[in-house]
Amino acid sequence: MTAGRHFLQIPGPSNVPDRILRAMDYPTMDHRGPAFAKVGQKALEGMKAIFRTESQVVIYPSSGTGAWEAALVNTLSPGDKVLMYETGHFAMLWQKLAEKLGLVPVFIEGNWRSGADAAAIEERLRADGTHEIKAVCVVHNETSTGAVTDIAAVRRAIDAANHPALFMADTISSLGSVDYQHDEWGVDVTVSGSQKGLMLPPGLSFNAISAKAIKASEQAGLKRSYWSWDEMAGPNQTGYFPYTPATNLLYGLNEAIDMLHEEGLENVFARHKRHANAARAAVTAWGLEVLCEKPADRSPVLTAVLMPDGHSADNFRAVTLRNYDMSLGNGLSKVADRVFRIGHLGDFNDLMLIGTLSGVEMGLRDAGVPYKAGGVQAAMDALGKTGEGARAAA
Ligand SMILES: *Cc1c(COP(=O)(O)O)cnc(C)c1O
Repeated sequence: MTAGRHFLQIPGPSNVPDRILRAMDYPTMDHRGPAFAKVGQKALEGMKAIFRTESQVVIYPSSGTGAWEAALVNTLSPGDKVLMYETGHFAMLWQKLAEKLGLVPVFIEGNWRSGADAAAIEERLRADGTHEIKAVCVVHNETSTGAVTDIAAVRRAIDAANHPALFMADTISSLGSVDYQHDEWGVDVTVSGSQKGLMLPPGLSFNAISAKAIKASEQAGLKRSYWSWDEMAGPNQTGYFPYTPATNLLYGLNEAIDMLHEEGLENVFARHKRHANAARAAVTAWGLEVLCEKPADRSPVLTAVLMPDGHSADNFRAVTLRNYDMSLGNGLSKVADRVFRIGHLGDFNDLMLIGTLSGVEMGLRDAGVPYKAGGVQAAMDALGKTGEGARAAA
């Protein structure tokens, strides 16, 4: 069945709006020519407003993983300890990457059902009286579990422990969808990517960098070349890059930044919360369990749903793809085949949510998963109630 639009409801890459596709549909220009400066400057300046920072932003032609590596190699030295928190699969991947670079991760284990616990981070930092830990690295929105970490609370924990470590946050799946404030929350390096909340295709990644992080980069001993912030700083001042940038993705990025401001960042964040709330109403009505146990930590961007015992999430996803042409996110590593993930992020509205949830409900039926009918109705009720309030407030 291929008529109509495919439903891409994985939590990234997200749906790319037509407006962004059109903005990219222009000839690639000379990235050293005079016309490029405007494109580069708009992207570099524009991303500061999205990160909510007055400090420096670096843009790489890479997936988000590259920006993870960039954050570490620019600021740290071989053998440095980094405190990381196991929120889920992506936190584990960042930890493995750190290990391969010759860093020594101190990993606080988690059960994959909540965001990072700031109190546990504070305790570890207090125990590190000699300040061997050089960085605290936390995933803001853990895309494998659908749990958000309170970044301001982690900042307060670092300050309460009076610890000088750098603070790094991964916002690859939250930037542009969930409230985030690089400066206000005292983050030193924020890592992000293009293909989730920013509504772009994959291929761009970002570091937002505090003055403290730039200072650390002057002493950092890890080897770096492609990822070096140093190399970027000079050309970026006039809107240029040291090597060929992803020119057409930058056209798209500038369009995405305009779209986010036209809607208003606060409205974008409220829209995501409202859709998340309605998705959760559906899951509850189906009699299924949301993976993230702490309601306050539940992600505005996606919902990970636990399958009833003895039922395969991957089989359910395969049936849903075959019967309704909808892609849902799979369970990763520890929760493989145990959960499926509904992406409700980026370029997304009420009817896309209801269409998505209808596909899930029919998929549960077709795959023989035990559930109670009425999830879609519950979501419609939730949208109606909060929607009236949201519109009245706007
Ligand atoms: C998607 C994702 C990554 C990995 O990004 P890639 O673009 O696939 O390299 C890392 N962290 C989080 C939180 C993500 O959602």
